[in-house]
Amino acid sequence: MQKKLIETEKQQGKGLTQQEAAERLERYGPNTIEQGKKNGFWTYLLSALKDITIIILVIATVLSIYVALKNHPDNFSEPIVIFGIVLLNLFLSIRQQKKAEKSMDELKRFSIPKTKVYRDGQLTVIQSTEVVPGDRLLLELGDRVSADATLITSKNLLIDESFLTGESEPSEKEADYQPDAADTIGDLKNSVFSGALVVSGRGEAIVEATGLATEIGKISDLLTEEQPVQAPLQVKMQKLGKVLGGVAIGAAVLAILIGLIRGYSLEIAIMTAISMAVAAIPEVLPVVVTISLSFGIRNMAKKNTIIRTPAAVETIGNVSVICSDKTGTITENQMTVKKVVPVLTEQTSGAKEALLLHFYLASNLSEEQGSHGNPTEQAIKQAAETHFGGEKLNTLLRQYERIDELPFDSKRKKMTVLYKKGDSYLSITKGAFDRLPIQEARADFQECHDDLAAQAYRVLGVAVKEYEELPTQITSEELETELHFLGFIGIIDPARKESYQAVQIAKKAGIRPVMITGDHLLTAKKIAADVGILEPGKKAMTGAELGKLSEGDLAEVIGEYRVFARTSPEDKIRIVKALQANGETVAMTGDGVNDAPALKASDVGIAMGGGTEVAKEASDMVLLDDNFATIVEAVKEGRRVYANIRKSLYAMLGCNISALTIVLISLIMGLGAPVTAIQLLIIKVVADGIPGFSLSVEPAEKDVMRQQTVDRNASIFDNGLLNKIIEISIVFTAVTLLTIFVGHTAAFNHELPNGEQATTMTFLVMGLTTIVHMYNCRSHESIFKLDLAGNKLLVGTTLLGGAVLILAATLPQTANILGLTALQPTQWLFVLGLSFIPLVYVELKKTLNLFDYRVKRRA
Ligand code: ADP
Ligand code: MG
Repeated sequence: MQKKLIETEKQQGKGLTQQEAAERLERYGPNTIEQGKKNGFWTYLLSALKDITIIILVIATVLSIYVALKNHPDNFSEPIVIFGIVLLNLFLSIRQQKKAEKSMDELKRFSIPKTKVYRDGQLTVIQSTEVVPGDRLLLELGDRVSADATLITSKNLLIDESFLTGESEPSEKEADYQPDAADTIGDLKNSVFSGALVVSGRGEAIVEATGLATEIGKISDLLTEEQPVQAPLQVKMQKLGKVLGGVAIGAAVLAILIGLIRGYSLEIAIMTAISMAVAAIPEVLPVVVTISLSFGIRNMAKKNTIIRTPAAVETIGNVSVICSDKTGTITENQMTVKKVVPVLTEQTSGAKEALLLHFYLASNLSEEQGSHGNPTEQAIKQAAETHFGGEKLNTLLRQYERIDELPFDSKRKKMTVLYKKGDSYLSITKGAFDRLPIQEARADFQECHDDLAAQAYRVLGVAVKEYEELPTQITSEELETELHFLGFIGIIDPARKESYQAVQIAKKAGIRPVMITGDHLLTAKKIAADVGILEPGKKAMTGAELGKLSEGDLAEVIGEYRVFARTSPEDKIRIVKALQANGETVAMTGDGVNDAPALKASDVGIAMGGGTEVAKEASDMVLLDDNFATIVEAVKEGRRVYANIRKSLYAMLGCNISALTIVLISLIMGLGAPVTAIQLLIIKVVADGIPGFSLSVEPAEKDVMRQQTVDRNASIFDNGLLNKIIEISIVFTAVTLLTIFVGHTAAFNHELPNGEQATTMTFLVMGLTTIVHMYNCRSHESIFKLDLAGNKLLVGTTLLGGAVLILAATLPQTANILGLTALQPTQWLFVLGLSFIPLVYVELKKTLNLFDYRVKRRA
């Protein structure tokens, strides 16, 4: 089938119709080598059973069965409740695993690579998974080949297929190559393979095989399975969870020892130990981190930012420098030719026309020449077409026969096209004025150039060279020397209207925006000054100056610079390294193949949605709208996520640590276990675990973008969080000990056994303080300044938690099972009063401004 298809495609070149493509997709399946195997229930269950909390709870169940058998064989309510909590934990754990997996899948879905194909005769960009056999692919510099395919056209096509052949040099590909039966994969010059990278040139190819039928698909079993990438914070929290699990077990052993020394029965000592262990494990902590991060990922996706590595969510909020491309990111990439300035002859309209025509001739404008949407050239095309009209332009062009070209690249900053005109030959070079080797370098040319550039024009010059014979070599040395200069055009690419404000926001947030461009220094400086990046007193540097500085010197001065102009992509990596050497956390944008190393080296590599696949693969996030302001939005979201994880830590660890110390202290003081294991478990689930999640949807605080950036190496507990956790643990512990003490002094009711009343009061105070404390954690600002409706989830879960606690203690049935008892009104008053002490305490500190909660506000 393919041979015939290839022949017809060569002639007609229309590609598949949408309908054919859809049918083939149905028949051959999606173009992916992933087996799509989903984890089953048992996989989840197994990994949930490995969880330390579950293990401890299972041990607790067994022990409590033993205790029940020994002490009260008619009452098994305790083991039943504990086992119920085991089941609840299993259920939650499985659900959360699924949720986390789903958000990872979403992440993957967002970063599916794109492929250019012809459908219904139109060049279309589709997801690579939708490529089908028979599709006509367009391959260009920086593309990743998404299927095995046979070339039908090629122009200087170089492809890196080292992953298949082991060959380190890129292979030359040739559509006209006639394969031989003895050819190995590496010899097939007319074939391209899925996974290969287009290093230069362009070509078109008809897809032969997709998915598992491709060469890479056939060996995909051998490829190591990709592990889901985790953010450093996730890893750290899992470690912290393990450490605290260890502490819990240690504490439990200690509790048994103390209990035995104090002369408790073994059963009581063991049950106390269990409540201890249960109290200390922050089982939901790693999950809260994962959920907060995936919330962030989803919110960013809504705002045109696709996160490719989960680490980026946490890092983007902490960047201290954003290095941004000028063209297309800070500016619109909507280019218009506004000035046409011939320099050789009088500036007659005839001279202008000739100049415009030469600019047009020195461009790649037909689809065949590989230009679909280079904005600079589109602007030239637009100007020429409006000026001449399509018909006249075509007549003019007929005199020129295109022979060859030296393509544009952002390092050379110019390009040349060679024409045959009549009996002689003509090469036309257009590009940056400083890169055009012209015969007569005249001061007035430079003056004219600088004058335009200083007004923010993107200035291009054009020059020609004539030959009697066809030049023997099509090289820069041959064609791009001793040129005859014709004149300039000035192109306006206006700054995006959001740029100025986004720059202001970034600066207030302690972030330094830096502009990087291949454009001229004067053009760059003008635009940078207009959008506020280049402040008075700060400097701009060219790529040439940059090249002369040593690593050390560059690092020393780089803090002064806001603009880098006439740079090559390779310069970006030096800029990143120099900034990092100064302790900065650097975000860097890029879209080209050569930008990939700098994107990798930066802390957050940001690729453009319209950029090359290679740049996207090297990046941590992709901007769908290529907009600088979107980066600043992402910073805000990153900060919100980071802050919310800190809030969850504040809420949960405060509860854990205090529970541990309370049990320990009351043991040492001989008060027995202040609450039972079951009661503690209930507190942990309804007062701590469930409301704790809701802090991850807390909206951004009003001043997130006025807080300073966090230091590169700072731990999440730095900047005051650790102190706050310790402090609130002390407050909790003090309040609870007070409750235990008052409960036991029997000041309230002499008819009931004091022990149960004290326990009930302790249970309620521990639970309610935890719930009330959630509101402390919402912000560094007073809760009276916050909008309650801002976090309805928190309101809902805390009300629910409070209700469960109170009902558990008041409904006779539950109270009986849980070992709780009815309280007197005075006792209730006492309980409620004490529950608000942590709130009062924290509010006082907030009003007195005693917290340094990451807010070192900028002037
Ligand atoms: P940037 O992306 O930062 O604007 P470029 O590498 O696109 O930088 O452009 C750098 C310089 O190269 C421009 O100032 C212009 O002089 C020249 N240039 C840009 N595009 C073309 C082109 N298509 N042909 C010739 N010269 C170009
Ligand atoms: Mg560009």
